[in-house]
Amino acid sequence: MKLEITDLTKTYSNGVRALKGISLTIPQGMFGLLGPNGAGKSSLMRTIATLQEADSGSVQLTGLPDGNLDVLTQKDGVRRLLGYLPQEFGVYPRVTAEAMLDHIATLKGIANSRERKEIVEGLLQKVNLYTVRKKNLGTYSGGMKQRFGIAQALIGNPRLIIVDEPTAGLDPAERNRFHNLLSEIGENTIVILSTHIVEDVTNLCSDMAIICLGEVVASGDPNSLVADL
Ligand code: ADP
Ligand code: ADP
Repeated sequence: MKLEITDLTKTYSNGVRALKGISLTIPQGMFGLLGPNGAGKSSLMRTIATLQEADSGSVQLTGLPDGNLDVLTQKDGVRRLLGYLPQEFGVYPRVTAEAMLDHIATLKGIANSRERKEIVEGLLQKVNLYTVRKKNLGTYSGGMKQRFGIAQALIGNPRLIIVDEPTAGLDPAERNRFHNLLSEIGENTIVILSTHIVEDVTNLCSDMAIICLGEVVASGDPNSLVADL
């Protein structure tokens, strides 16, 4: 399984050219997308997540058991294969984690309530929030909210997880926990981690690209790339 991004372009209505022909091949595992603020990381992530349209180019998920998928043109079907944790991940403060995950699972088409309960409890255990599952999300710390965000992104067993600047504002212990969780997920999924923190990429990712002003300026193995910076 691979994600093939070819010549993706996006200009916003204010004239900003956020993506100027991005081409990347993203293999299974953890992939780091490194770049300064304003580089175009979120624009690229939102486009891959089918939350905004590109002006041109293609995004293909290849090597799936039932053939290749054109991500941009098969939105409804493809969203079930995608998990997305946006940069500004908001939660409903007066809903419990358990109820919210159950609700999202329903939206994702898991109709059987017993099946939902099993999935939700499994995910809450995976992200280490099982004991606080009946607490309102408004009572969660930043790190707990991020782990909840991962749980919601994992509903439906996606093949591709997109995580945008996930550790901003987390303390070191929470960052570690979050990183371990991502590494675990990366064992059988494509995980794209967008960040401006070099160490996050060198510590966690097996491949990376550096983007700047809407263009890929380098890609390859994190340790050799970063050594050249
Ligand atoms: P589009 O060109 O895709 O229609 P818009 O310019 O209409 O995008 O903006 C979409 C949303 O993004 C709006 O809510 C707007 O406030 C917000 N937005 C506008 N400029 C920026 C910016 N520089 N960075 C981040 N978000 C922005
Ligand atoms: P990054 O995630 O790397 O910080 P972004 O993709 O958010 O980069 O932004 C890339 C460029 O596009 C910036 O110049 C930003 O101001 C602009 N931009 C982002 N979103 C919008 C939007 N919705 N409307 C207009 N301009 C935007």
